[in-house]
Amino acid sequence: MGTDRVRTVTVVGGGIVGLAVARALTRRGVAVTVLEKESRWGTHQTGHNSNVVHAGLYYKPGSLKARMSVSGNRSMVEYAREHGVPVEVCGKLVVATSADELPALTVLAERAEANGVPAKLVNQDEAREYEPEVAAVAALRVESTGIIDYPAVCAAMVGELAEADLRLSTPALAIRTVNGQVEVATENGVVRGDALVNCAGLHSDRVARMAGLTPRARIVPFRGEYYELRPDRSHLVRGLIYPVPDPTLPFLGVHLTRMLDGSVHAGPNAVLALRREGYRWRDISPADLLDTARFPGTWRLARKYAFPVGFDEVRRSLSKRRFAASLARLVPAVTEDDLVRSGAGVRAQALLPDGSLVDDFLVEEGPRQVHVLNAPSPAATSALEIGAHLAELVFTTV
Ligand SMILES: Cc1cc2nc3c(=O)[nH]c(=O)nc-3n(C[C@H](O)[C@H](O)[C@H](O)COP(=O)(O)OP(=O)(O)OC[C@H]3O[C@@H](n4cnc5c(N)ncnc54)[C@H](O)[C@@H]3O)c2cc1C
Repeated sequence: MGTDRVRTVTVVGGGIVGLAVARALTRRGVAVTVLEKESRWGTHQTGHNSNVVHAGLYYKPGSLKARMSVSGNRSMVEYAREHGVPVEVCGKLVVATSADELPALTVLAERAEANGVPAKLVNQDEAREYEPEVAAVAALRVESTGIIDYPAVCAAMVGELAEADLRLSTPALAIRTVNGQVEVATENGVVRGDALVNCAGLHSDRVARMAGLTPRARIVPFRGEYYELRPDRSHLVRGLIYPVPDPTLPFLGVHLTRMLDGSVHAGPNAVLALRREGYRWRDISPADLLDTARFPGTWRLARKYAFPVGFDEVRRSLSKRRFAASLARLVPAVTEDDLVRSGAGVRAQALLPDGSLVDDFLVEEGPRQVHVLNAPSPAATSALEIGAHLAELVFTTV
């Protein structure tokens, strides 16, 4: 459908999702232009995440997230191996630290089974065979979780896009459709294409509005801050240790992740960022704040989560002692002295006017346009799947 009418496509956003759709389109013979406002590929969410290849156990069976992360887990590992990108399938342990968490752990095990993710419930002693320092009454062992280097995945994709027109430091400034062509204004002139794909992450709702869409969802930026274990304490963690997530919250809870270089990262937490790309408390944008404050969903979200969840997250963000205490629930030997501040990432989370957070990946289509309006975790894991799906959609919009 429409494949012969799509010869050129403009992709806005050079994170892992934008590059993956550019790759998928190029492989189908389309001439692609990628516009990225920063001077490097994958500068924002893709370059500031936990570098985990998720297995797909958390997500609602049948959702895009569930389907695309289970197959994405396999395709991302395969892609990395084929392209010489460092990857290690080290498995992870989801840890119940008290008897109250056992029902939720069992639900998670059932969800894993429904999603086709190999996972097994293990007792305290078995959990300690995987992670000797862990405090578990029971745990879920997931073998297919891995660790990877997502910026290196982006570099490999860029390497495959030799035929494409790749433009760094080129923000999309305005978008309109004229005579069956989508025109994107940049500082260096207009880029024309038969169709447009918006993969602008933290700015995806704005780019959609720029293109004439009125998306219901608004992006709310949630910062996730990380600490790192001091190198002489990194032996406390062998692989990946996660808490049992609270099913009413959208994020997985602070966890311990061994990285490919052997360092152990701890985090991320979740606090509202005061700027779309606000990596520190002092990064404030009055325009972004006003945008968030004017959206009715923000206040409804605040009523639901501000107290005690949001309040506790802020206190943990400001207090290393509290951060260490959250980690010590998983690994009691971790103390405040073991932690060194590391980076932060900002999640682009779509919020609806009723105050609910969009759980699944969200894509909206317009004439000759495809907009990715919610691609939070595990979208890096699922990038190749999302890319193929978006490429298919492009042909149906023309
Ligand atoms: C703290 C954190 C931890 C995470 N951990 C994991 C994990 O372990 N595993 C996992 O699978 N996922 C994880 N994720 C999620 C994952 O990082 C994202 O889902 C994924 O990177 C989204 O990719 P993207 O290309 O949509 O967005 P981005 O990487 O944010 O790319 C969007 C790009 O669009 C560009 N852009 C915006 N506006 C314009 C414009 N007007 N013109 C041109 N360019 C524009 C931006 O500069 C940016 O480079 C995590 C995310 C965060 C924040």
